[in-house]
Amino acid sequence: MSLSTADIHADILVAGAGAAGLSAALALAQAGFSVVCVGHVDTRANGRTVALFEASLRFYKALGVWPHFRGKTAPLARIAMIDATGARFPVPSVSFAAAEIGLAAFGENIENNVLVEGLAEIAAATKNLFLHEGMIGDISFGVDAVLATLADGQRVTAKLAAAADGRMSPARTKAGIGTRVWTYPQIAFTALLSHPKPHRNISTEFHTRSGPCTLVPLRGVENKPNRSSLVWLMSPEAAERRRALSNSELAQEIEDQIDSLLGKIEIDGPGGFFPMAGMSANRLVGHRIALVGEAAHIFPPLAAQGLNLSLRDSAALADVLADARALGADIGSVRTLKTYEIARRSDIFIRTNGVDILNRSLLSNLFPVDFLRGAGLFAFSAIGPLRRALMREGVLTHGTLPRLMQKRPARRFTPSSRGTASIGMSGRG
Ligand SMILES: Cc1cc2nc3c(=O)[nH]c(=O)nc-3n(C[C@H](O)[C@H](O)[C@H](O)COP(=O)(O)OP(=O)(O)OC[C@H]3O[C@@H](n4cnc5c(N)ncnc54)[C@H](O)[C@@H]3O)c2cc1C
Repeated sequence: MSLSTADIHADILVAGAGAAGLSAALALAQAGFSVVCVGHVDTRANGRTVALFEASLRFYKALGVWPHFRGKTAPLARIAMIDATGARFPVPSVSFAAAEIGLAAFGENIENNVLVEGLAEIAAATKNLFLHEGMIGDISFGVDAVLATLADGQRVTAKLAAAADGRMSPARTKAGIGTRVWTYPQIAFTALLSHPKPHRNISTEFHTRSGPCTLVPLRGVENKPNRSSLVWLMSPEAAERRRALSNSELAQEIEDQIDSLLGKIEIDGPGGFFPMAGMSANRLVGHRIALVGEAAHIFPPLAAQGLNLSLRDSAALADVLADARALGADIGSVRTLKTYEIARRSDIFIRTNGVDILNRSLLSNLFPVDFLRGAGLFAFSAIGPLRRALMREGVLTHGTLPRLMQKRPARRFTPSSRGTASIGMSGRG
């Protein structure tokens, strides 16, 4: 479809085509809205994976997209935490099994670029969703509509902008939504690893004084049946030194750090170094704009919460807007958007602060902090109901889940059976 000389009209403009933006666009299109999603689809490998937990899997299954990823993911049946901080107080190792809460697995781990590429392919085949692989040059918020001018000069008008344009979110800035930003003295090194010993679907976290060093099971490929992804938080100085190492030297340091748990390590493809920061938007909504994903919240990759939280944003936004439309209300009105803000605030607050506390408890070597962390882990290892409550909270959350995440039979992906709204175009050439 060529839109080179047209203005595009849709119900919703999704800014950003990362995992959060594409997922929001699919959920909104499936809810029957006409959606234009604008963003560059970045499918470069950078050694990053995402562990998608039960609620996120339900979301993708309900949208019918999950079969697309069959054979590309690895289950997380167990999570083991090993203390390697050298704390003066003995901190027990803890193991969580998905079977204890009646699940075959907590979730599935998938390479970021494989997820984004697959979502983009599905988005491109979805009837009332137009994926424009470019950038938004400017966005403005009128009384009744949002107007975006794309980098190539095309214009998009919509009743609402869902801003999923990442941590710097130009749309959020333009809407005048401020943020609270903070940093951590940590860099995350990410890589995909191959190794001789099987991971047995266990994710293992070594808790060190610079943060966790986490191995997450990854699907094997031809000639490399045993693979894992690595997220290793380290000090900026250690990251600087390791950047200069060869792959074999780096592989040896990883093997030493994880006590040769998986045998001889080989680094499989490009890795990445990511400075760790936190960010929380002061508001999740503004005039005709709702924030989704990292445009709204950022925290370090502990306990694999980031994208899972973003998918709950997407699913909740789809619920709120569908409810507003059913009542005949304006989907971009203050009242509608306030409902979204209220639905998402506490989940985002709890995850952002929970991860912050956990991370800082590792970085601190104060005895009382070590004591509390050790006592907490001891309680989780010894008290079954507490352990199960924590596991459920990690994968399903305590609040009411958005409709697309509630337990129900999965539907099959049929792009042509999606919503009936259509994207309007008017010539201006
Ligand atoms: C090391 C690491 C490991 C992680 N592991 C996990 C995990 O296991 N589980 C989990 O749930 N989460 C994990 N996360 C978090 C997760 O990766 C992120 O939350 C997620 O990738 C962010 O997606 P996003 O779409 O919100 O942002 P992004 O991926 O940053 O996408 C934003 C997009 O907006 C685009 N954009 C910006 N400006 C414009 C514009 N003007 N016009 C159009 N588009 C624009 C950008 O180009 C970009 O493509 C991890 C994070 C890190 C750093």
